[in-house]
Amino acid sequence: MYKFSNILFLIAFLQLSSCSQKALTDKVNNKDSRVDKLLESMTLNEKIGQMNQYNGFYDATGPAPTGGDAKMKYEHLRNGMVGSVLNVTGADAVRKLQETVVNESRLGIPLIFGLDVIHGHKTLAPIPLAEAASWDLEAIEKASRVAAIEASARGINWTFAPMVDISRDARWGRVMEGAGEDAYLGSKVGAARVKGFQGNNLSDINTIAACAKHFAGYGFAESGKDYNTAEISMTTLYNVVLPPFKACVDAGICTFMNSFNTVNGIPSTADKFLQRDVLKGKWGFEGFIVSDWGSGAEMIEHGVAKDKKDVAIIATNAGSDMDMESYANVNFLQAAVEEGSVPMKYIDDSARRILKVKEDLGLLDDPYKYCNGTREKELLYHPDHRAAVLDIAKKSIVLLKNENNALPISKTQKRLAVIGTLAQDKNSPLGNWRMGSDDDTAVSVLEGLDNMGIEYTYAEGTKLSIGENAFIREMKINETDRSQFDEAIELAKKSEQVLMVLGEYGYQSGEGRSRAKLGLPGLQQELLEAVYEVNPNVVLVLMTGRPLVLNWADENVPAILNTWHLGTESGNAIAEVLVGNYNPSGKLPMCFPRSVGQLPIYYNHLNTGRPGPKDLVFWSHYTDEKNSPLYPFGYGLSYTSFDYKDISVSNTYGTDDNVKVSVTLSNTGKLKGKEVAQLYLRDRVASVSRPVRELKGFKLVELNAGESRVVEFILTKDELGFYNNNGDYVIEKGDFDVYVGGSSNANMRKSFDLK
Ligand code: BGC
Repeated sequence: MYKFSNILFLIAFLQLSSCSQKALTDKVNNKDSRVDKLLESMTLNEKIGQMNQYNGFYDATGPAPTGGDAKMKYEHLRNGMVGSVLNVTGADAVRKLQETVVNESRLGIPLIFGLDVIHGHKTLAPIPLAEAASWDLEAIEKASRVAAIEASARGINWTFAPMVDISRDARWGRVMEGAGEDAYLGSKVGAARVKGFQGNNLSDINTIAACAKHFAGYGFAESGKDYNTAEISMTTLYNVVLPPFKACVDAGICTFMNSFNTVNGIPSTADKFLQRDVLKGKWGFEGFIVSDWGSGAEMIEHGVAKDKKDVAIIATNAGSDMDMESYANVNFLQAAVEEGSVPMKYIDDSARRILKVKEDLGLLDDPYKYCNGTREKELLYHPDHRAAVLDIAKKSIVLLKNENNALPISKTQKRLAVIGTLAQDKNSPLGNWRMGSDDDTAVSVLEGLDNMGIEYTYAEGTKLSIGENAFIREMKINETDRSQFDEAIELAKKSEQVLMVLGEYGYQSGEGRSRAKLGLPGLQQELLEAVYEVNPNVVLVLMTGRPLVLNWADENVPAILNTWHLGTESGNAIAEVLVGNYNPSGKLPMCFPRSVGQLPIYYNHLNTGRPGPKDLVFWSHYTDEKNSPLYPFGYGLSYTSFDYKDISVSNTYGTDDNVKVSVTLSNTGKLKGKEVAQLYLRDRVASVSRPVRELKGFKLVELNAGESRVVEFILTKDELGFYNNNGDYVIEKGDFDVYVGGSSNANMRKSFDLK
């Protein structure tokens, strides 16, 4: 029987059998040859084993194995029929399972341990949509670094993140997990997160493999309903859906996950065009692709496979390398290869890709390198990690409205009321994807105010949900119990100012959490209006995992602060912004609609042949709603104000391939503040209709009160072109408009002619 030591022995033996010292050194240094040698020693079934991933022994995105299932899984682990396990955490638990495989399977090839480390492991950063609102790539990278350090200390060496699905529909609950509606911002954020997780060297003890998901089109689920069909045109696929995935490949990501949905009637797991032609072909991706949970077997529901054998054949031929929990590869791939339905070269290719990632992680040298219990004890919830997530939490907050200087609140006011059940909640701010973390570990808003020494009186006002809230269960929202209204109203009456902390519970967004109504859930809107009636000096502190419809609040309450679900340090970050210790600088990565009927809504739409407004009805609009969102993409206020002037364009394209755009940005208010200066581009005439504008650059600029600075953007071929419907990147000369400003509504414009 071979053990892990046998791999080393085998390699050593092969090396020693070569004749010269030089050849030996080459072999030691040439990592691929090591994987190839290992591959040569494997049976067909052992290769297929690498292509099989099982859920471990912990209830997460699917049921945990019990009874016979667990027995069968252990047997497969011992037989070398499992390449990876997900949802097993903790240095001890991981070590135990790794020992089983290393000591008991013939070749002892270590497992790779995957988990959804989405925005942190124990110490949680803001949900990814919120992080994107910071537009701060360094802080985003750092947050992913923290996640990798903690996860790797718990035995995890592979995260199923970043999710880089672009989405234009806030009904889709998983918008919380991505970077919003824009492919340019989404690409930058995706790449930053890959760097954060993977670091400079995957074999470092504190880095983990990242996974770009869900390839592709999952964010275009029709009507925002999770797992639904995606209808995507070629121009949208190439210019909106694929670029963030490509950016992850360019950043060196080593794994991909395919998606549940179909594109052009083909489920992604079965999609040869996406996986073999685009990802592994055109983009030269050398890592491996894992299916989503059971997405292989779901081909049967989609009606493109008749049984699991069909699933194994179609998925493998299409380029899907590892099967997560469909039991298709492990049970049927051998027969499929033997009968000639799947070429052996595909099995070799998949196994090689998987082994290569294991090698890059250092698992072939030391299968237990991520199982160091001391690191686990020292690193979880480390103060440095808390500081990093507090930093990005502050930066992620978006000020949506601020009239009459309602914010910042006075630190010394004596009659401040805080109303809303979310103000005291220590669980909800952790968001939906926080499976490695511990319940009730967020700093609540009340605790944040306490930490700041702010005096207040609190009333819950209304319960948001009924019964227990859990990751895997539908939530029951309170629609009837108003018994606490009176107490809240009485408190508001005698208060100077009221902070109403309202919004979505953490589990109301995320996987399987689509919503058709996007107002404040439950009785919260009613409570808000009742409180406002007795005291209009209200600040709405919004918690949410997605854009909501806030028309009433926008028309009535003086200030709205969007705080998303900010993670472990939530309450401290919110309190710092409320009192003005931190001047808000976040900008929306996704627009907030006025009505659900506007969805999908996004700033970079095509012009249509009938843009308006026009006197007669025959233009592209609604008769009962504006076309514009309530708050556009890129929007966010500050406690100070900014002014843009003197836009100029220096067009030297043709000489040095650059177009330089500069503006003067001034802080015209009384406080120091940070602005996210944004550049948008419009290609006026092209062979394919191009969006009315597209983000092509942004800069974070901090200015003292009264200070001005020239901000420069450089447009290169990477920003000036687009993908045509054949998927070729082209730059078409002609007229362009450039806009610079503080949101996607920026109206300072200059035109240039690209020759
Ligand atoms: C989700 C993936 C996740 C996987 C593993 C699936 O249900 O769609 O995003 O990574 O479960 O937990």
